[in-house]
Amino acid sequence: MTQQPMKSCLACNKVLKGRVDKKFCDDTCRNGYNNLLRADTSNYTRNIIHALQKNRRILESFLGSEEMVKAKKEQLIQAGFYFKYHTHSATNKKGNIYYFCFEYAYLSLEHDWFLVVRKRE
Ligand SMILES: [Zn+2]
Repeated sequence: MTQQPMKSCLACNKVLKGRVDKKFCDDTCRNGYNNLLRADTSNYTRNIIHALQKNRRILESFLGSEEMVKAKKEQLIQAGFYFKYHTHSATNKKGNIYYFCFEYAYLSLEHDWFLVVRKRE
């Protein structure tokens, strides 16, 4: 008879007896664990959505009623802009990359300046 390696429940860490492919003691542990994973995922998603919505509001406030404005990187960061997050990007004919937060976009210029624009209908 071969010795099976000791396995413990993913939820409560108790040593598992029985089938080798078992991961949880029972349904309570399984459900608890899955709920925890789901909560983590939705928190993560929520945080990114919040960051994107904040980015959108910031770009909107910089732009006001203008077609395009220039903003310093520092100004954007001070307003709470997360350069990490954008919804998509687009490259124009010149090869410049516009990073979008929904219908607003920014383009990196020289010397830490950014061009802020709104997508035309
Ligand atoms: Zn358990």
